[in-house]
Amino acid sequence: MHISLDALRRIVGSSNVLTGEDVSARQADWMTGAACRAGAIVRPADTDELSRVMQACHAARQPVVTHGGLTGLVHGGDAQPDELVVSLERMTAIEALDEVGCTLTVQAGAPLQRVQEAAVEAGLQFPLDLGARGSCTIGGNIATNAGGIRVIRYGMMRQQVLGLEAVLADGTVISSLNRMLKNNAGFDLKQLFIGSEGTLGIVTRAVLRLQPPTPDEQTALVACPSFDALTGLLAHMSKSLGGSLGAFEVMWQNHYRLLTETSGRHTPPIAVEHPFYVIVASLGSEAERHGEQFNHALETALERELIVDAVVAHSQTQRDALWAIREDIEGLIQTLAPLFTFDVSLPIAAMSAYTGQLERAVERCWPQGRLVVFGHLGDGNLHISVSVGSADPDTRHAVERLVYEPLAELGGSVSAEHGIGTEKRPWLGISRSAEEIRLMHTLKHALDPLGLLNRHKVLGHGSTTTSTG
Ligand code: FAD
Repeated sequence: MHISLDALRRIVGSSNVLTGEDVSARQADWMTGAACRAGAIVRPADTDELSRVMQACHAARQPVVTHGGLTGLVHGGDAQPDELVVSLERMTAIEALDEVGCTLTVQAGAPLQRVQEAAVEAGLQFPLDLGARGSCTIGGNIATNAGGIRVIRYGMMRQQVLGLEAVLADGTVISSLNRMLKNNAGFDLKQLFIGSEGTLGIVTRAVLRLQPPTPDEQTALVACPSFDALTGLLAHMSKSLGGSLGAFEVMWQNHYRLLTETSGRHTPPIAVEHPFYVIVASLGSEAERHGEQFNHALETALERELIVDAVVAHSQTQRDALWAIREDIEGLIQTLAPLFTFDVSLPIAAMSAYTGQLERAVERCWPQGRLVVFGHLGDGNLHISVSVGSADPDTRHAVERLVYEPLAELGGSVSAEHGIGTEKRPWLGISRSAEEIRLMHTLKHALDPLGLLNRHKVLGHGSTTTSTG
């Protein structure tokens, strides 16, 4: 550590600078459960304290890693022993609600679920939603430009943020807390910080856009006989529901089987004999009319043989049971471990050929290997898990090549929604051109010339090239 911990204690108080076992007892990685290895953790109470912490770090050339809820899946929170972790855990306030303008101003450490609840209490909704909602923070959601299960209707985190405040590496506070839908006065600086994974600044506060409530949720699990039927169903539901399609979450049979029959973790609501299963949700306001519209859309889908079976949820408990299969990431990990997980995007039309080719390639290289696929199909986003009985680095690299290399030709992305972190850094060149990567380095250098913020993430401090693996 380059910085004097006493200097930090003078800013945030002794109890908010953690060292030794207080650091190592913390889990730094959701997937592996690995312990935090940082030299110390500092917990500022507000933007002013954080700004003074960063001024001190800048003067001492102290590298920093930011921690939100630590649910990120690409090792963005990993810290080396010479790095200082800045944890936003004390910055959790819901600061202001504007019911007329439909905005909520919050500190960046506020957990997503608390923000969702605050919006509901105000008779509105904050539509970003994902399985880690109880732990992940708004700052982490912004830093990773999180997606989740409502993207098809409301877009990603970028679309939910009207303004934000961030602290730069030298402690400068950029307060860009815009509350208006329209503001074209010069560069839209907030966009620099959304999705840049804490490499350009630490997000401290945000103005979030709220939406009208959709109190009636119609949800069904349906089975599709083929990939063509699946894409036909997406188009059909999208048109028939007139803009209220809220989720279209697909499980390949291998995923559905694993979490029901194989693991025994969930009772299969529909027999495990079809190639694809979809959770379709529609978000509306007036229950009776909306319910009729949803049922009619499903009936027509059945008549057109886009689906062959369906289970409609009639209560929140039934809805939760359907979603529990799709959101059972812990079950997936327990049943498949050791496994490698991937979050890719590609044109929907190319998905079936891509997953088929991948399955055959995995089988060829590891005859006992398993491939499991689910995803936000409407967003072109697949989550792929590959289990080949080993997790050593060479095996990981070999599996990564099989998953990532075909994406270059397809115009796909090595990261649909989880970000690059350290895990996908060697593969950035598959999804971004050399010119794009050079511009990313230029921006990084302009905002953080000493390379202090999340220095090993996304681009990597000092490196100017990114290979394709
Ligand atoms: P962290 O894990 O703490 O940090 C993530 C990255 O952001 C790190 O690089 C960190 O340094 C940086 N960071 C954190 N806070 C700040 C800040 N205030 N300022 C600047 N940088 C910061 N993601 C999806 O997109 N869609 C999903 O559907 C989804 N489902 C998930 C389901 C489960 C069960 C789990 C465990 C994760 C899931 N994720 C999903 C991934 C994860 O929840 C999101 O990436 C989330 O946005 C991370 O938020 P966090 O607060 O936990 O961030």
